[in-house]
Amino acid sequence: MGNDFRFRMTFWGVRGSTPTPQIENLNYGGNTCCLEVRLPNEEVFIFDAGTGVRNLGDSLLEEFPDQKLTLKVFLTHFHWDHIQGIPFFQPLYHAENQVIFHSVAFPEGQYRRCGSNNGLEEALKIQMADPYFPISFDSLPAKKEFIQIDPEPLKFGNLTITPFPLNHPGQTFGYRIESEGAVVVYATDLEHGHKKLDRVLREVSENADLLIFDSQYTPEDYGKHRKWGHSTWLEACRAASDAKVKQLALFHHHPSYDDRKFYQIIQKARGEFENTIGSQEGWSLIL
Ligand SMILES: [Zn+2]
Ligand SMILES: [Zn+2]
Repeated sequence: MGNDFRFRMTFWGVRGSTPTPQIENLNYGGNTCCLEVRLPNEEVFIFDAGTGVRNLGDSLLEEFPDQKLTLKVFLTHFHWDHIQGIPFFQPLYHAENQVIFHSVAFPEGQYRRCGSNNGLEEALKIQMADPYFPISFDSLPAKKEFIQIDPEPLKFGNLTITPFPLNHPGQTFGYRIESEGAVVVYATDLEHGHKKLDRVLREVSENADLLIFDSQYTPEDYGKHRKWGHSTWLEACRAASDAKVKQLALFHHHPSYDDRKFYQIIQKARGEFENTIGSQEGWSLIL
């Protein structure tokens, strides 16, 4: 196809909490959170770097074998399932590439244990520090940048990325991704029931083409996991209806829910919000 689209969004990891590479989970996928947004000019934006980012990295090197890559990564927060693919992200192992990490700035002074320039860099260094990983983050040859952003719209040509706060343990931000009227809202990880943030979520999602929503639990299981920072498929449907989005993608699948169980959840969710899908590794939306 020609360049008559605004962007393409692809799921590379949809699982919450921990990878689940068992055969009974592989229809929807076992890798943890990672999305790719690709512009018509081939610019690549990556949202979260769970284990799904490993496959994305390999695929980019195969697609652009002789090209310098400049990749922009936006992290929602630093729980393992959102950063654990970084040590295995092959573009970082090539000096000609540049990887620019973004996250909303931490309060001054937080996470400065190893004397990094900022909390974002620090959080990424720590996960690869001795004794957790054999190669240090600093020694990865790609050029790395760490940009702590304000929760304000950020423009990249026609693309606008707007962070918005989510109710989750530790500082967490979702992203509204918009280009020429095409809108995808990436809202993970979050727990419903925070009046103000529930309203913010609905505002940023209004009439979106796709709302990607943390629906880790069934409403029954949620009862046992209050304050763990996650929501349910039913709350996802409510947010989708309130915001009048075109499509809802259930995301951050519970590690213990296999494909069969998840299929039943999607059927139930469709009774509440008709255009609901289960996020599935490899699925793309072209807008
Ligand atoms: Zn998570
Ligand atoms: Zn989390």
